[in-house]
Amino acid sequence: MPVKNRFAELLPEITAWRRDFHENPELLFEVHRTAGKVADLLKEFGCDEVVTGIGRTGVVGVIKGKTDTAGRVIGLRADMDALPIIEQTGVEYASKTPGKMHACGHDGHTAMLLGAAKYLAETRNFDGTAVVIFQPAEEGGGGGREMCADGMMERFGIQEVYGMHNMPGIPVGTFAIRPGAIMAAADQFDVVVTGKGGHAAKPHDCIDTTVVAAHIIVALQTIASRNVDPMKQVVVSVCTVETDSTAHNVIPQVVKLKGTVRTMDPAVQDFVERRISEIVEGTALALGAKAVVNYNRGYPVTINAEDNTSFAVEVAQAVSGKVDANTAPLMGAEDFSFMLNERPGAYIFLGNGDTAMVHHPAYNFDDTAIPFGSSWYAGMVEARMPAA
Ligand SMILES: [Zn+2]
Ligand SMILES: [Zn+2]
Repeated sequence: MPVKNRFAELLPEITAWRRDFHENPELLFEVHRTAGKVADLLKEFGCDEVVTGIGRTGVVGVIKGKTDTAGRVIGLRADMDALPIIEQTGVEYASKTPGKMHACGHDGHTAMLLGAAKYLAETRNFDGTAVVIFQPAEEGGGGGREMCADGMMERFGIQEVYGMHNMPGIPVGTFAIRPGAIMAAADQFDVVVTGKGGHAAKPHDCIDTTVVAAHIIVALQTIASRNVDPMKQVVVSVCTVETDSTAHNVIPQVVKLKGTVRTMDPAVQDFVERRISEIVEGTALALGAKAVVNYNRGYPVTINAEDNTSFAVEVAQAVSGKVDANTAPLMGAEDFSFMLNERPGAYIFLGNGDTAMVHHPAYNFDDTAIPFGSSWYAGMVEARMPAA
């Protein structure tokens, strides 16, 4: 099963969809035009069912195989949203909306999955059901979480789920994946330290919140250096310090801190959340102040299940023969993690060649990657649910 010949034939059509999405980027859940076009195309392909409005603006298509002897159902996912970036690619199909840009290649992901859906609806050469999932709001809005919260997995009986992301720096046609954690969890925390403000020349009459905050910032460094196993990854960064005074001679009443936590292991994530509260509250208490922590979980760790990763590698191997099956994990975060928390599956990178990095104004998805991506999506269905 090398790159499917059908995708060579479909390449001009899939490329045209991709460039149309690129020209018309939409942010977060506001992907109305994109979702509308996806739904129209899925209906045109003859999908057995097309449902819109899942997770607000998500779209799901159902394609039944020639047979269904074992009740198998596989989900394939792409993301549809763009970023608030001013495009600098100079391509003729550049964004028509200044300040919005497909700078993460979700235009390519959506087009590749549409190509796979067209092929699967034409051939139906599998035993079971393929569910194609187009999600909004991957870039910080939690669209994947919203689709899961809408009961998508249960409603369509999805048993396993697969996602793909392009990656600059990896040659086109090369895949990269790893079992276990492949992307980090990204959380945020806010700390409010309250003391007793006053004249800077009379510190003995005050409870100095800046000194308390400084101790807290230093003490938080011990989570990574003294508390967490050195073989496990963790980042705790305090990024903002804000006081309620800008004077040289006033001890502020309140100091606010903001920071981020990145982890690759849910147990470490739980531990770090607990330690931040203990350190912040305990340090403030020791120095006579009060401190409150507000910890907000963002996207969870993206965890590839062992077996599903092996299948993803086999299919990628069959498509191009070029697979890095033990790529390094990234400390970025990915909304597909919510789907992988509900069902076993895998998330794979597909090379985008020597381009600018994703989220850069000069980034562009490489259309020559399309046959590889579409073949992998379709191949997962045909290999996991072989025709009876
Ligand atoms: Zn992105
Ligand atoms: Zn992305």
